[in-house]
Amino acid sequence: MIESPDIPQVDIGNHCTDPYDCDFKGTCWKHIPEYSVFDISRLNKDKKFDLYNQGVLTLHDIDLSQTDLNPNQVLQVKSEISGSTHIDIDEIRNFTSELNYPLYFLDFETIGPAVPIYEGSRPYQQLVFQYSLHIRETSTSEIEHREYLADPTEDPRIGFIEQLIQDCAKSGDILVFNISFERGKLNDLIESFPEYSNELRGIVNRLKDLMIPFQQKWYYTPEMRGSYSIKSVLPALIPELSYNDLDIKEGGTASNTFLSMVNGTFEGDVEETRKQLLEYCELDTYAMVKILDVLKEV
Ligand code: SF4
Repeated sequence: MIESPDIPQVDIGNHCTDPYDCDFKGTCWKHIPEYSVFDISRLNKDKKFDLYNQGVLTLHDIDLSQTDLNPNQVLQVKSEISGSTHIDIDEIRNFTSELNYPLYFLDFETIGPAVPIYEGSRPYQQLVFQYSLHIRETSTSEIEHREYLADPTEDPRIGFIEQLIQDCAKSGDILVFNISFERGKLNDLIESFPEYSNELRGIVNRLKDLMIPFQQKWYYTPEMRGSYSIKSVLPALIPELSYNDLDIKEGGTASNTFLSMVNGTFEGDVEETRKQLLEYCELDTYAMVKILDVLKEV
């Protein structure tokens, strides 16, 4: 193939991502619109390529009478075509009415060093180093904020656990966005530090997922483009609250920044950067507070 003067004519397909993402996607996928059938939520890859191979590229091209989509996928397509928002008032009211105060809004940041740094950790294991926690004592009280950012010269998990246990107190629901992540990290901590298992299990048992109303499409706007990540939900619901004004805008940057402080390659103003890390994580949980406010107004 290397000696051949011609580029082989191969269309895009499952081979572009399996067994791993191809570096050439920037070229071969140029004709795929920014929002396309490949963004249909939870649609299996073969079905996406079936649509593509029939010449169906955008959601507007889909003939719903001829396409096998589940109700939430149909909702996504219809919402895009009509530009309308879907709100399932009953489900959302059920969800919000079952929340128990004081309410906690919690988000973790992690690092995943390839070569384990800390006792008992595995290669690439996601290790917590930071959290932000907003607290609302009652439905009408002002929010309070607590946070933790580890000292990069120590195992970040010990201080994290001890302060988290103190900050979360003993009662009230703890809202996270995508429960499997926070629950997974807490279970890892229980495994590595069994001496804290009772308190950490208590926290795990209080977790509730604020992502559910969006994952279930009880609240869906066309701006979400099939995604229910907080980065898609927030601008759709509260456009004035944005990550764009922050120096650190996403979790990957936060993680790499802290990891560079741990391994001694960080170059820059440590105090200023720690402030930026705190601001980023704080916005994640403040966003959750605001998202719940919107749900409660339904
Ligand atoms: S993106 Fe890669 S795998 Fe897909 S068609 Fe292009 S070269 Fe082949």
